[in-house]
Amino acid sequence: MFAFLDIETTGLDPKTDFILEIGWVLTDGYLNELLPGKSSIVEQPYWPVVYDKIDSNAFVQQMHNASGLRQDMQFSTQDRFLDLREIREEFMADVMLARRGVTGEPVHLAGYSVGFDRGFLEETPEWGPLFKTKEFGWQMHHRLLDLSSVIMLYGTADRPAPVAEVYNTNPHRALNDALDSLDVARQMSREISWIPA
Ligand SMILES: [Mg+2]
Repeated sequence: MFAFLDIETTGLDPKTDFILEIGWVLTDGYLNELLPGKSSIVEQPYWPVVYDKIDSNAFVQQMHNASGLRQDMQFSTQDRFLDLREIREEFMADVMLARRGVTGEPVHLAGYSVGFDRGFLEETPEWGPLFKTKEFGWQMHHRLLDLSSVIMLYGTADRPAPVAEVYNTNPHRALNDALDSLDVARQMSREISWIPA
């Protein structure tokens, strides 16, 4: 099973930056969606510090303004706001549902540079144990499907890597980016399928 997952953050440092949004879509081993994708804006213990962090970096500020995330954090009545523990519980519940009783199937994180997302989540007390221990009953598999790495491989063969056909209308929102990476993974899988075994 794959968990195509993306997080939006205030920056690159898991020790000092904040996770703003988490989105995912779960697929089987053949990249078929098992459940509708989901995303939540992270409820923060103290919002002013988070806004200050965003506004302290012009690049980050521009990115989250352009995507609408900055505005949605402040004003949205549509988005779901959950804290990191609640989001992790929802993620685990989705995995349980998607497994449909098949326990023990490995769950691989997938996405663009998804090691970054994993590193960030691992640093939090709410998500960390899911990657490091079996404290919650099961543990994420250590192997990632990093689409950015595969895109680099396309470069080594001077081949254009696939770009998302469907979902990139609003980049830098967590669920859109997760769906975008799934779209690209499917195209790559189709291309590989043409290579004689
Ligand atoms: Mg993103």
